[in-house]
Amino acid sequence: MSTRTAIVWFRHDLRIADNLALRAGIARGCVVPVYIWSPDEEGEWPLGAASRWWLHQSLHALDDALRKLDSRLIVQTGDALPTLRKLIKTTGAEAVLWNRRYEPAAIARDTQVKRGLTDDGIEVESFNASLLNEPWTIQTKTGGPYQVFTPYWKTCLSLPVDAIAPTPRRIPSPAKWPSSLKIDDLKLEPTIDWTAGMRATWSPGETGARKRLNAFIKNGVTGYDKGRDRMDEDGVSMLSPHLHFGEISPRQVWHVLADSAASASAGASTFLAEIGWREFAYHLLYHFPKTPRAPLRAQFAKFPWSRNRKALRQWQRGMTGFPIVDAAMRQLWHTGWMHNRARMIVASFLTKDLLIPWQEGAEWFWDTLVDADLASNTLGWQWTAGCGADAAPYFRIFNPTNQAKKFDPQGNYIRQWVPELAKLPAPAIFEPHTARPNILESVGVKLGLTYPNPIMDHADARNAALAAYRRIAEEKRLTNN
Ligand SMILES: Cc1cc2nc3c(=O)[nH]c(=O)nc-3n(C[C@H](O)[C@H](O)[C@H](O)COP(=O)(O)OP(=O)(O)OC[C@H]3O[C@@H](n4cnc5c(N)ncnc54)[C@H](O)[C@@H]3O)c2cc1C
Repeated sequence: MSTRTAIVWFRHDLRIADNLALRAGIARGCVVPVYIWSPDEEGEWPLGAASRWWLHQSLHALDDALRKLDSRLIVQTGDALPTLRKLIKTTGAEAVLWNRRYEPAAIARDTQVKRGLTDDGIEVESFNASLLNEPWTIQTKTGGPYQVFTPYWKTCLSLPVDAIAPTPRRIPSPAKWPSSLKIDDLKLEPTIDWTAGMRATWSPGETGARKRLNAFIKNGVTGYDKGRDRMDEDGVSMLSPHLHFGEISPRQVWHVLADSAASASAGASTFLAEIGWREFAYHLLYHFPKTPRAPLRAQFAKFPWSRNRKALRQWQRGMTGFPIVDAAMRQLWHTGWMHNRARMIVASFLTKDLLIPWQEGAEWFWDTLVDADLASNTLGWQWTAGCGADAAPYFRIFNPTNQAKKFDPQGNYIRQWVPELAKLPAPAIFEPHTARPNILESVGVKLGLTYPNPIMDHADARNAALAAYRRIAEEKRLTNN
């Protein structure tokens, strides 16, 4: 039996199945599975509070899964290169293997780690375990990156999807295990426990991810094309945090769906296109690495944003007086997740009704989402603000009340998350400030006391936003002439 040892460095691939770095490690000989907590190496985007909670659970799940295969997770903290060097010294490992990440800070760090280890005479190999197609493999006919989704996805669909890597049955241990911190030593969970809603909603880890995928394929995917916009129904997969942390891979999603009875449904192809949006987000982040902070369309740098801190806080707390916005922001706070339609509504509200910079919204999402993902979050915010790739046109300003009427027709989503309005019937629940006083009184709603008055008038805000956006569009036209 070979005694060669490889370190498999786990990052956004917290799973055993379809894990190419792990498979390569096993093929070489003994494996030391390692997780290194190094928030300082994440640049401007160290994990937010909700994501840290998820990571804590997911590391435990990974360690449990490794132990079932006669292995274990070695947990370390500190900068990656010196930490790996120490581990190499104590284990005698000859190789370090990992699955690639695509965020700018991670790319810079990984490049430095690779150079350092290679100079030390250590073999380094990296793999693709989190995308169907890596960003540099898809190009327009003229050789550049895509900035429009439809042709991007068409190109992706013309390519084969690699098979799922076989799941190992045992992981050979090294002759001597290095010491490890306890996962709890990383102190990823909050000291004051506000995570009950997240605990009730999620099962982080590979098993939870597989269950979620199987349940969605069995019960949800065929109706996904029609149901995915309904905030009051369970019409979406809720796979996003599992995909973000790599507890399941898009290749697995693709093949499990392709092998299912639902594969030919319209719902399945719409769902795969959403996986495509995730891929597109990584494509854009890789090719435009400044976009987490700077608008992709440069003229938007001059947009006359407002610095209204009070309104920002009201938005964050779900106290805007617009029930659908407040429901969504409270769902986010409680569960660490928000429906995609709701994300578009609250993002449009922040950037176009309140004229607050999209970066403020992106930061709040970063801290509160369990699926906070630099690529998808950046794309989502820039798209809604109108300054990103394939973005919503500037004149598309969601009317929050109409959105609620359409995508939460009985008001049940609002009822769930804004309990002080739960007894209001539809349509009053969509717009309590226009309801007849006797209706409000009969259910104990006192505007300004039990629930806020709207913090602004949507029609006025819309006009102000249109004027500001028109100026930017005009400026662009003048610069182009
Ligand atoms: C302002 C804004 C911010 C967002 N921030 C994030 C984020 O930080 N992390 C994140 O994963 N998604 C983000 N999204 C995209 C999308 O809202 C979520 O991926 C989706 O709501 C997750 O729920 P789901 O797993 O049930 O999705 P489903 O509808 O079941 O879709 C399946 C998967 O496809 C991917 N996906 C779906 N829609 C999108 C999309 N528009 N862009 C990129 N990928 C998509 C996700 O991985 C998702 O899990 C954001 C969207 C907006 C408008």
